Amino acid sequence: MSGRLATEVAIVGGGLVGCSAALHFAHRKVPCVLLEAGRCGSQASGVNFGGVRRQGRALAELPLAERARRMWSRMDRLVGHDCEFRPTGHLRLARDEREMAELERWAKEAARFGIAVELSGAAALRARWPWLGAGLAGGSFCPDDGQANPRLACPLFRRAAAAAGAEIREGERVHAIERGPRGFVLGTEKGLEIEARVLVNAAGAWGSAIAALLGDELPSEAIAPNMAVSEPLPFRIEPGLGTAGPGVYLRQLPSGSVIFGGGRGVVDLARMRCRPLLESTLATLAQVCAIVPELARALVIRSWAGIEGKTPDDLPVIGASAKVRDLWHAFGFSGHGFMLAPAVGAVIVELVLDGHSPTSLKGLEPVRFAEPVPAPG
Ligand SMILES: Cc1cc2nc3c(=O)[nH]c(=O)nc-3n(C[C@H](O)[C@H](O)[C@H](O)COP(=O)(O)OP(=O)(O)OC[C@H]3O[C@@H](n4cnc5c(N)ncnc54)[C@H](O)[C@@H]3O)c2cc1C
Repeated sequence: MSGRLATEVAIVGGGLVGCSAALHFAHRKVPCVLLEAGRCGSQASGVNFGGVRRQGRALAELPLAERARRMWSRMDRLVGHDCEFRPTGHLRLARDEREMAELERWAKEAARFGIAVELSGAAALRARWPWLGAGLAGGSFCPDDGQANPRLACPLFRRAAAAAGAEIREGERVHAIERGPRGFVLGTEKGLEIEARVLVNAAGAWGSAIAALLGDELPSEAIAPNMAVSEPLPFRIEPGLGTAGPGVYLRQLPSGSVIFGGGRGVVDLARMRCRPLLESTLATLAQVCAIVPELARALVIRSWAGIEGKTPDDLPVIGASAKVRDLWHAFGFSGHGFMLAPAVGAVIVELVLDGHSPTSLKGLEPVRFAEPVPAPG
């Protein structure tokens, strides 16, 4: 839609990160307009695996993940629905002694953040979860981790944000951003112009492109994690599962279907489209069946992929731009931003409005990619 709007905050991107930021700005009564190219939640936030886990995360993400985990328990109060969040626990599996050592190392480090996991060797693992295959070296169980429904979460955040007063404009792809007298002037492909004092870049895999429109060069590549789902099965895999090294992850829905992911599909970033690859699905299936042999008899009924921004250090870019005043970034979640997103929106709003947040972003801020200042002389 063409026309001109003036607001305090413009948010580019209506994934879970952008919708969470819009909700938290609206709670603070700050006028904000969110611009989404398609429908809110139509990209990574709506098609992901739905894992809500702290286990296995980089330590720099743990303060944010701890806060997000508390929020997932309170979704009813935040967005009027529990987003089907279930604290089923998360079981991380080691396929050899090297992966087992990695589980032990992480357990020690996470304890400093108050996260307790239960380590088991091969025999104890199969005694507790008899549907696991032979050949695993051990595992680490984090009882407070869980799973949620990605198809519900983002639309619910969008609805709550709009009800609290945020203006949500779907079908508006931003293609130009300039500095204006009051901050920023954004232009969409349909001719809408938005003037805003503050700009939040929550454009997911397109975050680097949005930053580049303002001369802020931040590295990220687009990837397409590959997913598939089985027919409903009678047996129960209670926790979410994942391998310690690069590999596969799976979870069973209350309906009985098993969702599994691993490998990559194909991305067309300009057209905002992606597709799964049969080779990736088959390679993942082989690994999944080694972990849960009963799955060898299951029919796969659908596969898909989603577009995700991945940074060189696999950590998101969250915080103030190192180059452009009043520009805030929150993108590049590198395959694990669904769990973090509710807290990311809250922290961005605290930083913009209060200048500080109780949640540390150390190691995640954009400044880590700023060019080093050459030494004098
Ligand atoms: C298949 C898959 C499985 C995953 N599994 C998990 C998991 O189990 N647990 C976990 O924590 N994370 C997981 N992730 C990662 C997680 O989904 C993402 O990190 C998270 O959803 C990112 O949210 P976002 O809001 O930053 O991005 P997105 O949801 O991609 O939202 C960005 C939005 O910006 C919009 N946009 C882009 N450019 C423009 C523009 N120029 N103008 C207007 N709008 C624009 C896009 O249309 C998009 O809707 C997975 C990701 C994928 C793809």
